Amino acid sequence: MTPSASADLSRLLFDGRYEQNHQDLHELLLDPVFDAREGLDMTGAGKLAYARSRAVHGALERPREIMADPWRLFALAEWPSLVDVSTFSLLMVHYNLAFGTVLEHGDREDLKDLVEELDRLDSFSPYMATELGYGNNVAALRTEAVYDTATQTFVLNTPDALAQKHMSYSGFHDIPKLAVVLARLKADGKDHGVYPFLVRITDSDGLCEGVHAVPCPEKPVQGLDNGLTWFDHVRVPRRNLLHGDMGGFDEHGAFHPAPGNRRKRFLRTMSRILPGRLCVSSAATGAGRASVYIALRYAAQRLTSAPGRSDQPVIGYRSHQLPLYTALSKTYAMTFLLNHAKREFAAAPAAGSLPAGLGDLVSITKALSTWEMSEVIATCRERCGAQGIFSVNRIADYGSLLQGLVTAEGDNQVLLATTAGQIIARSGDGEEPAPAPDPAGRDLRDTAFLLAALRHREEQLLGSARAVMADGSRDRTYFEAWNDTVNTGLEAARLRGVRTALECFTGAAGAARTDTSRTALGLLAALYALTEVRRDAGWYLARGVLTTEQVERLPLEADALCAEIHPYADVLTEGFNLSPELLRAPIAADDYAAAFQRYTGAFGPAADRTPERS
Ligand SMILES: Cc1cc2nc3c(=O)[nH]c(=O)nc-3n(C[C@H](O)[C@H](O)[C@H](O)COP(=O)(O)OP(=O)(O)OC[C@H]3O[C@@H](n4cnc5c(N)ncnc54)[C@H](O)[C@@H]3O)c2cc1C
Repeated sequence: MTPSASADLSRLLFDGRYEQNHQDLHELLLDPVFDAREGLDMTGAGKLAYARSRAVHGALERPREIMADPWRLFALAEWPSLVDVSTFSLLMVHYNLAFGTVLEHGDREDLKDLVEELDRLDSFSPYMATELGYGNNVAALRTEAVYDTATQTFVLNTPDALAQKHMSYSGFHDIPKLAVVLARLKADGKDHGVYPFLVRITDSDGLCEGVHAVPCPEKPVQGLDNGLTWFDHVRVPRRNLLHGDMGGFDEHGAFHPAPGNRRKRFLRTMSRILPGRLCVSSAATGAGRASVYIALRYAAQRLTSAPGRSDQPVIGYRSHQLPLYTALSKTYAMTFLLNHAKREFAAAPAAGSLPAGLGDLVSITKALSTWEMSEVIATCRERCGAQGIFSVNRIADYGSLLQGLVTAEGDNQVLLATTAGQIIARSGDGEEPAPAPDPAGRDLRDTAFLLAALRHREEQLLGSARAVMADGSRDRTYFEAWNDTVNTGLEAARLRGVRTALECFTGAAGAARTDTSRTALGLLAALYALTEVRRDAGWYLARGVLTTEQVERLPLEADALCAEIHPYADVLTEGFNLSPELLRAPIAADDYAAAFQRYTGAFGPAADRTPERS
């Protein structure tokens, strides 16, 4: 049987896994515990996020099972933030970063009691990597765990103010916490590098002996207990070292690190960061889709004046269509890019021997998708006018979520620059760049042509970056050489993401099973590609990849595409499998005025006295 167009779009967006991995999460979030709550202070909102996290945990299979299936983990990352952005943060830290580290490096018989405590969520597990002085440079962290052979314990200590753990969830002292703490392991007078330890932070009596923690200052929307934590010679049993295959103790009680360099061991210690970045992207694209869904539903019923009439739904304006349909095209593009990255991750062999290109793909996906969704969400917020600023209408909260996501689990700029550096170092040997596409007679909706143009720019930028980096004619330090290269490298890495996203997008359009979904995706892919080429139209013109006439036509072609996408807008958003009942945003309801009135409890005119709309 041929599926409906929206079902077909949903199949493509959820990679055929909606029923298997997502549907029960969607249904769980209909529970009244996730209803919007007004008037909570930051502590109240934070406590509610813990209660909601427990509700999610109680309704699903155990964390151990979820961690065994990356698709399920990514689905868990996608849904809770739609109704509470703080619940997402708590769940991801507990499930992926902390418990994931425990399972990968400490799933041993002698730790069974602690592993089960975390699996049952009897204690939450904060992940303590970042320090006040060490953020993106976390590999240089200073918290130390010195092994005491006599007592077979580690002495965990914060040597100075800059080594205090920063941002991890330690501000509430009445919630039991068993943290994964990253610390520099010192034994026999040697520094063996950074390892993860299980450390009890709070129990039923509050903060444990030697542990100090205060909440960080308030931040808008996310009322969680991010804190500043320091350790004063805390005794940690030897078994709590999560050494995995990164080292161990011999029969005489001496610690030996695994062979190999420290950098590799550090990356093993941080192994949950890679899937964590895909979780971050999942939440970002989910929030982006929900923002577009809400903004488009509102725009279809929000009336405004137009020349000659006073009741024009605002979406009829091309000035509303261009930003919102461009946003729609970006949410599709980023979702397809993310699906590709998830597939590559799920197909990769066990951690420790990951394919070289996977890290690049995941980093680029994380950076590009969170940046794009930040822009999408800001656009949707603005296009909803005053309604866009209310928390209950969600979009403003998603904006706050995205501010955290571009920074957490690898700041976008640093992540992309590091990736660019690696691509530049690897590329070039014997690679023949593709020739510039000839623009003569090419249609601006031809995605094959636009793809070739994007690929050409990516290759040219990479070539320039490589040449600048390798330029031996000037006496420069490595830092100076990198500084001359970094911004070109950043743009090249971004373009690699855009180009890959477009390839995935056109692939999805080609795999559509209905005429409607195929046509709708084709138009949307063309808008995405055209928007990207338009961004750097001057460069393409200068390089002869676009003609003057084509550059002049770019804005008109974008408008024309929006007009053609317009009849498909509903079906394209139906593919998101969202609903007003799930999001509970008054402006996403079938009658926003009645829903807003119901939510505020206003005694205004009855809904049936609202004027008829023509
Ligand atoms: C909401 C939220 C929750 C968090 N939760 C946790 C948690 O649970 N546990 C935890 O351990 N950490 C947590 N963090 C901390 C997070 O991991 C760090 O914020 C992140 O690693 C970036 O470090 P930083 O904020 O210190 O930024 P910095 O490293 O200080 O960067 C500041 C600026 O400098 C730029 N920059 C830095 N280095 C370079 C470079 N080499 N080249 C060019 N530019 C550079 C960055 O792009 C950025 O713009 C959380 C952060 C947020 C926002």
